[in-house]
Amino acid sequence: MAFLKLILLIFTLHSFMPTPISSNPSLNKEVLARIRPDFLEFAKKPVIMDWMIGIRRKIHENPELGYEEFETSKLIRAELDLMGILYKYPIAGTGIVGYIGTGKPPFVALRADMDALAMEELVEWEHKSKVPGKMHACGHDAHVAMLLGAAKMLQEHRNDLQGTIVLIFQPAEEGGGGAKQMLDAGALDNVDAIFTLHVSTRHPIGVVASRSGPLLAATSFFEAVITGKGGHAALPQHTVDPILAAANVIVSLQHLVSREADPLDSQVVSVGKFQGGGAFNVIPDSVTIGGTFRAFSKESFVQLKHRIEEVITKQASVQRSNAKVTFDEKSTYPVLFNNKELHEHFRQVAGEMLGIQNVVQAELEMGGEDFAFFSEAIPGLFFFLGMKNETQGPPQSGHSPYYIVNEDVFPYGAALHASLATSYLSENPAKDTSAPEGSSHDEL
Ligand SMILES: [Zn+2]
Ligand SMILES: [Zn+2]
Repeated sequence: MAFLKLILLIFTLHSFMPTPISSNPSLNKEVLARIRPDFLEFAKKPVIMDWMIGIRRKIHENPELGYEEFETSKLIRAELDLMGILYKYPIAGTGIVGYIGTGKPPFVALRADMDALAMEELVEWEHKSKVPGKMHACGHDAHVAMLLGAAKMLQEHRNDLQGTIVLIFQPAEEGGGGAKQMLDAGALDNVDAIFTLHVSTRHPIGVVASRSGPLLAATSFFEAVITGKGGHAALPQHTVDPILAAANVIVSLQHLVSREADPLDSQVVSVGKFQGGGAFNVIPDSVTIGGTFRAFSKESFVQLKHRIEEVITKQASVQRSNAKVTFDEKSTYPVLFNNKELHEHFRQVAGEMLGIQNVVQAELEMGGEDFAFFSEAIPGLFFFLGMKNETQGPPQSGHSPYYIVNEDVFPYGAALHASLATSYLSENPAKDTSAPEGSSHDEL
């Protein structure tokens, strides 16, 4: 049934996609020069701003966790329907892939994530989360609103596009690896490049930051259950104390980065979870510890993983305990790597819109992002979109219960999305546009 729907969609896309007005790149550049400066002005129009803000606030009030973004996805599809944008759904559960343009190569993708976090919002405002224990504290509600804003502009110019812009609305960025699921479901098949943005409270409005090469670290989580033999705390000789074993394990884990890693090769091992025991005078049977590890190269990451397992099991055995280590594969993200050419493209496009002094070099960060799966599969570019607002008090980092999105940033995000994609199509024309209809395997 899903296959039939896909066939129908492919047919529909072919039937109704406007034909390209020209395959001449120079004419295309002229068209682009005409439409691109309008994007920021268009996105700043009160009617567009209010529409984007309305969408974001609706999503903010009803935050949904990874793979449960049912209402968010429904809202996005309703907006795409209203704009007349065709899409595939469902992809990876709640994910959506929309198409604007000719339905033919080149294909360039823009991505927004949809999920919220399992935490309580502590910001008191009119559109505070209505769902206890869930909050959009990373700005993914804003990402959706801005990508829909871009979609509106791009759809207005669909007849000017020389190729196809692919809109990716993905589930479960926060530890669920939604990008990987989208990728496995074929969301990026035949796509040549992908761009995304993340709102940032560290940079002011009108400033964007990125860098070529690695930007965010490869990340993963581990958990270990260390088992001994519980008993009376006054008679330790009759027990095997897993608390002492776990304490030694944690100290030994800290030596991996300080003693084994190259000091110039950034790595992190942090234990954030220690659960065991419940009484002052009882030695428990077992202790559970858990943590995260991060690195900037695949080799270092693999080595860390190997040594974490080895250190936990062997160190536990020194204290006569057993240890079972598990790694959360779903939350294991590769290094986020920005393509050099796309970074140059981003600098040029953002520089034109914001002034090159407002396109700054991002610092390397040990945080992770599942966009890394996309940019590992095809050339990709991730950038931070400044939204710092001094009047809203000291900026709160992502995942803070006091996190506030500065909605004034929306026109910038929408316009940058639209500009990056249109100019990419203009500068990377399809290699052979003379192929007869239906003969190219690259088509949708
Ligand atoms: Zn986040
Ligand atoms: Zn995020």
